[in-house]
Amino acid sequence: MPPSKQERREALKAVYHQARDCTRCPQLAATRTTVVFGSGNADADLMFVGEAPGRNEDEQGLPFVGQAGKLLDKLLEEIGLQRADVFICNTLKCRPPGNRDPHPEEIENCHEYLLRQVELIEPRVICTLGNFATKLLRADSTGITRLHGRDEVRVIGTRAVRLYPIFHPAAALYTPANVEVLRTDFARLPELLAMELPPQPGGAPERPEPPAPPEPRALPEIPELEPVAVAVDDRQMGLF
Ligand code: URA
Repeated sequence: MPPSKQERREALKAVYHQARDCTRCPQLAATRTTVVFGSGNADADLMFVGEAPGRNEDEQGLPFVGQAGKLLDKLLEEIGLQRADVFICNTLKCRPPGNRDPHPEEIENCHEYLLRQVELIEPRVICTLGNFATKLLRADSTGITRLHGRDEVRVIGTRAVRLYPIFHPAAALYTPANVEVLRTDFARLPELLAMELPPQPGGAPERPEPPAPPEPRALPEIPELEPVAVAVDDRQMGLF
């Protein structure tokens, strides 16, 4: 039996707990404020993988909360999506000091967390933002300028997905012409999401369709309810 949505969500929280105390990269562990695990829908069809947290992300514990994140939100909105519909994370979960490039050994140390996220969230489409995520998930050194806007089926850990490299939104902040390139590439996302899920390694069954909503019927009187407590972990992970 494949794990239920709730089981996958609980397992994702367990991975978050593990990552929160991670010291695999001694320098990053010593200089970070928070581990930026990722945020969004724990059952998303669309996952974005960026590079690494910057200063704002490190302070707030959430990915893409600065200027690049605002552009990402805008581009999402233009295709009718919100953050709550997708899952956003990074190749590195900790901020490299001074926003330097991630080191190869740091990317390697953090790879397992990303693979577990892919395994547990079960996205159909993974959109890599920029060179670092693209090179890591394609296991190849071809750069984003050649690859952006071209989808391909790739097996990432245990999951076959449609991998879709696009420019990093920060690149568009520095080079405004890239905004239009990003917008054009973003416009293909709905089409990619509507495609068949690629055959899964080992023939794992596709996630079953959600059950049809029940027929509307007269509602019984509902007593006043206590406010529902949001699990602290859910809040910290920014999970919807
Ligand atoms: N750039 C990234 O790659 N990730 C973030 O979370 C923010 C900026």
